[in-house]
Amino acid sequence: MKALVYHGAGEKAWEDVPDAAIHDRTDAVVRVDAVTICGTDLHILGGDVPEVTPGRILGHEAVGTVTAIGSGVCTLAVGDRVLISCITSCGRCRYCREARYGQCLGGGGWILGHLIDGTQAEYVRVPFADNSTHPIPNGVTDEQMIVLADILPTSYEVGVLNGAVRPGDVVAVVGAGPIGLAAILTAQLFSPSRIVAIDLADSRLEAARKFGADIVVNNSRDDPAAVIAELTSGLGADVTIEAVGTPQTFDMAVRLVRPGGHVANIGVHGAPATLHLEDIWSKNLTITTGLVDTYSTPTLIGLVASHQLDTSPMITHRFALGDFEAAYDTFARAAHTGALKVLLTRSDS
Ligand SMILES: [Zn+2]
Ligand SMILES: [Zn+2]
Repeated sequence: MKALVYHGAGEKAWEDVPDAAIHDRTDAVVRVDAVTICGTDLHILGGDVPEVTPGRILGHEAVGTVTAIGSGVCTLAVGDRVLISCITSCGRCRYCREARYGQCLGGGGWILGHLIDGTQAEYVRVPFADNSTHPIPNGVTDEQMIVLADILPTSYEVGVLNGAVRPGDVVAVVGAGPIGLAAILTAQLFSPSRIVAIDLADSRLEAARKFGADIVVNNSRDDPAAVIAELTSGLGADVTIEAVGTPQTFDMAVRLVRPGGHVANIGVHGAPATLHLEDIWSKNLTITTGLVDTYSTPTLIGLVASHQLDTSPMITHRFALGDFEAAYDTFARAAHTGALKVLLTRSDS
């Protein structure tokens, strides 16, 4: 089969590799029908994720069709269409028993395209397949489903639910990339009074409006604190969601929240960020961080199937499965290409 293989920082190739096969009795092999690229994949290619070693097949988000199951797989059958979750779950460890699958101690967690071969391939081995895939309801397309592999549950769980968005809240989302946009989309499930999107790129702010932001602020020109002060009689936002992962954007998320409010950090940070406790110790803030657990994926699938959540505007560019070179280039130059999520599909699917 063919797969996208990591060959060290900056190096990757779509090349022949041994076929994906069952190793453990709880494995399934899934034919990849649609796959996407994550910002995390760019970090890996930048050499920022040293656990990913040369020879690794990249990718942790896909939709596909089961082609083989191990003897211990109970709930899947060959021919089933499944969503492959970015988080693998053993289902038995202490964290999995608490639905904190991202912290799995039994061999799961974020392993696909990280510690084991991933989904940017014609076929992929999925460990603990019963717990690590989700059946796709009839009538739901691969394209609608693929953003539920990672970005929607991430934004919903780590942003909206950790941030405890409530009806009537003023919610500020710092960063309007795919993760910030997914937070804007899913925050609306809780009827906030205003969603304020903050970004440096007008193209992203335009997308934020399409996804449901009421107010957009380009912080290269305007002061988000002044905009939020005006909306909230000077108090600050009820919830701020950090969806970038830099010291500056984290600081902004903390500065924009009202006393008693929630700061939900989703951003993946590569450098230390300063928490100004000397300013905020008395503000009764709740600050949360997290890796997605994907416990919300069945809920999100139900919302997509019932047309209460429209994920389709998230896919902006489409490619054939083998065309990773062009797909990565388009995704990596998102500021120029306007790419949110790029989709690669099998030619016959
Ligand atoms: Zn991802
Ligand atoms: Zn586990």
